[in-house]
Amino acid sequence: MAKQSKIVEEKKKHIAIIGSTGSIGTQALDVIGRFPDHFVVEVLTANGNAPLLIEQAKKFKPNVAVICDESKYKEVEEALWPEGIKVYTGYKSLEEVVRMEPIDMVLTAVVGFAGLRSTVSAIDAGKDIALANKETLVVAGDIITELASQRKVKLLPVDSEHSAIFQCLAGEWHNPVEKIYLTASGGPFRGHKREELATVSREQALKHPNWSMGAKITIDSASMMNKGLEVIEAHWLFGLKANQIKIVIHPQSIIHSIIEFADSSMKAQMGLPDMRIPIQYALAFPWRLPVDYPRLNFEDLSQLTFEKPDFETFENLQHAYRALERGGNLACVMNAANEVAVDAFLNGRIRFLEIAELIGETMEAVPFQKRPTIPDYEASDAQARNYARQWLNK
Ligand code: NAD
Ligand code: MG
Repeated sequence: MAKQSKIVEEKKKHIAIIGSTGSIGTQALDVIGRFPDHFVVEVLTANGNAPLLIEQAKKFKPNVAVICDESKYKEVEEALWPEGIKVYTGYKSLEEVVRMEPIDMVLTAVVGFAGLRSTVSAIDAGKDIALANKETLVVAGDIITELASQRKVKLLPVDSEHSAIFQCLAGEWHNPVEKIYLTASGGPFRGHKREELATVSREQALKHPNWSMGAKITIDSASMMNKGLEVIEAHWLFGLKANQIKIVIHPQSIIHSIIEFADSSMKAQMGLPDMRIPIQYALAFPWRLPVDYPRLNFEDLSQLTFEKPDFETFENLQHAYRALERGGNLACVMNAANEVAVDAFLNGRIRFLEIAELIGETMEAVPFQKRPTIPDYEASDAQARNYARQWLNK
C-alpha cells in the first residue's frame, strides 16, 4: 500500500481514451472509476454512440468529448455544454485532442486503421501510449516505434498476450529473449478442418469461448487473423524476428503468454481472462493496483492444455508471417483487406473461408513498397480496400 500511494504523491495520471465507448474503452473506464485518486479523464471519444458518450462524460467529467460522426454533434453538445465539457466533432479532431497539454497518457482503443493518425499525433506530442489498437502497429510499426523512441514515449501494451510478455520481461532487460510463445484460445473453430468451416455462420463466428470483445476482433479471433496481427505487433513491441515468435494454442486462456530465455528457462504470466488486468497494468505502470476481481482458484482448474496451431486450415496465419517476413507495406495491405473482409462477412456478403482468400489475393495484387511513409501507408490502405471491394463486387 505504501508504494501505491506513491503514484498519488507523484501526480494523478491524466488520461485520454480514444474509442471510450467500445469494449476496451468501457473496461478502461471501469478501472479508472475504481481509482479516482490515481487517474483523471481528460478526453473521451466515440465514433457514433452518442448516448453512451454522454453518459460516460457526465460521470467522468472530461475536459473534452469528441463525437466523430458529425450528425450526432448537436445531440452531444446540447447534453454536455451545461456540464462545462467541450465537445468536438469530425475524425480530424482526434489528432488534435490527443495533443492537449494536461494529457500524460493516451489509451488507443479505436478499432482498425482508423486509429493510425491519432496514435502518431499523440506520440509526436510526447504522450505515453497504452496501446490496444494493434492494427496501427501492424500497419506502420516501423514509423511508430521510431517516433516513440525519438520522443522518449512509452508504448505500453494492452493486448493481453503482449502485456504478459511485458510483465515477464520485468527485471530481465539485460537478458536476451530467445523466443516468445503467444497463446491463443483457438477461438470458436479450434480443431475444425477446412470442410467444416465452409458453411459456418456469422453467429457461430461471433461466439468466442473465453473473451467478450468488439465484433471485429471476435471475427479476427475465429479466423486466427487476430493471432497473426499479434505476431506482427510482438515483432514491433519487443524487437523480435519472425522465427522467434511462436504461437501455441491454449484453449483455457489462463496462461496469457510465455518467454523462453537462453538458459532454456521459461516465464509465463497467468490469471483469469479479464481485459481489465492488462488495461490497468498499462494505465498504472509500473504499479499494480489492488482489486477485488475474481481470482484464479486451482481447485476449479482441472487442466491446462496446449496444441499446435493449424496453419493449413487457418491460412491467415500464413498471410501474417509472410507479411512480417517481407516487410514494407505488405502488413498494411493485409490489414486493409482483412478489415474489408471482416465487414463483408459480418454483413453476410462472403463466407468464412473467403475472408482468408480475399486477403491472400489482395496481398498479391497491391504493388509492394519497401519503405513507406505515413501517406504511403494511407495510399496502400486505400489501394487494398479498393481492390478488395472490387473483388467483392465481381
Ligand atoms: P469496439 O468495436 O468495441 O470499440 C471501438 C471503439 O472505437 C468505439 O469506441 C468506437 O466508437 C470507436 N471507433 C470505431 N471506429 C472508429 C473510427 N473509424 N473512428 C473513430 N473512432 C472509431 O472495439 P474493441 O473490441 O474495444 O477493440 C479496440 C481495439 O483494441 C482493437 O484494435 C482491438 O484489436 C484491440 N483489442 C481489443 C481487445 C478486447 O478485449 N476487446 C483485446 C485486445 C485488443
Ligand atoms: Mg490478444
